Parts: sequence; structure tokens; C-alpha cells
Amino acid sequence: MPKPQAKKNKIGRNDPCWCGSGRKYKDCHAPVDQAQRAELLRLRQAQDTLIPKIMEAAESVPERFPPAFAQFWNEEYGPEQMSELDDLEERGAERFLTWFAFDFAPAGESTLITQLIQAADADGFEVDAFEQRLLPTWAAVRLRPYLVEEVRKGSGLLVRDLLDEQRYAVNDTAAAKRMEPGEIMVGHLVPVGGKAMLTPAEEVDPPYGREISDSPTYYLAGAAAQITGDTAEKLLEFVGLHLEDLRRSRPEATWDDLIEQRSYVLNHFVMALPQEYDPTIVDRVVLQTRIALQTTGASLVGLVGRGSEPEGDQPRDTTATPEDEEAE
Ligand SMILES: [Zn+2]
Repeated sequence: MPKPQAKKNKIGRNDPCWCGSGRKYKDCHAPVDQAQRAELLRLRQAQDTLIPKIMEAAESVPERFPPAFAQFWNEEYGPEQMSELDDLEERGAERFLTWFAFDFAPAGESTLITQLIQAADADGFEVDAFEQRLLPTWAAVRLRPYLVEEVRKGSGLLVRDLLDEQRYAVNDTAAAKRMEPGEIMVGHLVPVGGKAMLTPAEEVDPPYGREISDSPTYYLAGAAAQITGDTAEKLLEFVGLHLEDLRRSRPEATWDDLIEQRSYVLNHFVMALPQEYDPTIVDRVVLQTRIALQTTGASLVGLVGRGSEPEGDQPRDTTATPEDEEAE
């Protein structure tokens, strides 16, 4: 859990400084802390402006689309259907472009994000100083499945990665309105800030104001798919079959390796889901994958944390309105 109590510790300007110097806060660390907060705010703003620039860059290389479409949409749609994708699949065009930018890497080539990092260094991709600091920290971001554990209306979400069980605080008020605890979000979480990203303004111990968290805040980049929590077990079984298949050529392959090489299979699972949860259809999807890959699912034993069980039957969000774009 992050530290929600930080706010309560807010120091008054005339209180003794948190560093123990004995001086008033305003005469000691207040300016340093203020500079750090301003820097963090600028980084968050940079996140807001950088994501559209990445999407624009993705749209500008349609010649790379055909193999990417085949992977992400499992050969079901082609690039000529780009304009219809939002009707065919919930926010399909934006979800495709996000995956295309962060994950797609044709043989021998790097992802678009990695290319943009190089281009930004060579002034070939226009970014400001804060965007330029953020971009390299996003190179390893990939499409992953997250279980929503907690929704903080008006502020964000606490989510858990279904594959490695890591927890993230996601600062996204729109997602907080849309998502319910227990649902699954298949999307891209980009880190912003955290002490590691801030310029040390002064070498003291502790080096930063204690209101600034150690760990970065995460934002949802582009569009995410939203699916019901009752699919969690089948989703893990499905990606487990793909991991088993990958391990035929790379016996030591991990979830991270699978995501690095085949994160698009998560979208195949999302595509196969019916509007209303139907266990027989979900079972069939898993069975077909097992047959297609000729895997048994045996490798799943011991791989999947027991903590990932869905909490009973979660109906689809019936309160969805046309504004809730990602609610299917
Ligand atoms: Zn101080």
C-alpha cells in the first residue's frame, strides 16, 4: 500500500523542520520541498502532453501497421478497418495504437517508444525537458492485466498485476469513475515521478520532503480494455498456455518474457469475450488455444499466485452509460 497518511503529516510553516535542524520549517526545508513538488507537478503535466505526442507518432507510420494488425487483432481486422475499429471493438483504434507504440517490435527492430527515445536525443522527436526525462522510463512498459483492488472516487485506483502480483497506485480520475473493484483492466501503466526521478535539490538525510513518495505514481497511457473479474482465472489459464508454448523454445521463459514477446495474446482474450459473461464461451476460448498450441496447461501449476482468484461472480457493469467509453 502507498502511504495515504502523508497528507496528515503536513507541516506548518512555523513548525520545527522535519529534518531535525531545530529551525522553523519555512527557514529550513520549505523551499527545497516546494521545488520538489513543483518538479513533480511538471512531470505529471509532461505525462499529459507526452502521451498524445506518442499516439501521433504511432499514427504517422501506417506502413508498419499490417504485421501489427495481424498480431494484435489475431488476423481478424486489417489496417483498412482502422476507422471502424472503435465500433468493432471498444475503443479499438486507440487500444491498438497504444499497444503498437509500447509493445510492437517486428523482428530485429525495437519498439516505437525506444525509437522515439533515440529520436528525442537526436532532436528528431520534439519533446520538452520534462517529457524527455519521462520518455526513457517508459521503455519497458507493456500491455498487462491488472485487477482493480480499490477505487478511490475522484482520485484513482489501486491495482494488482495479475501475473506478478505487484501493486500500483494509478492516478486516473476518469478510470476511477468507470472501474469497479474486482474488475480487470488490460492496459499500459506508465510511471511518473517518485524520488528516483526528482533532481536532488539538496543532499540531506532524508534527502526529500517526506510528503513526496518514494515510489512513482502510475498513469494509464492511451486506452485500456475493461473486463469483468470473473474472467481472471480463465485469463491466467489462457496466458499460461502461451507461456507453456514459449517455454518449448525458451525453457526459462517468465511471464515478463511472455509479455515482452506476445503481449498481444491478452488482446486475443479480450476479443474472444462475449458481451455478457458466458463461462461456456470462455472455456471454449481456452480449449481452442490449448488445441492450437498443443499445450496441456500443466506448466501453470505453481506459476500463478493463489491470491489472484476472482471474488465470485461479478456481473458486467450495468450502470454503464454511453459516456463510460470503456465499459462494454
Ligand atoms: Zn530542514
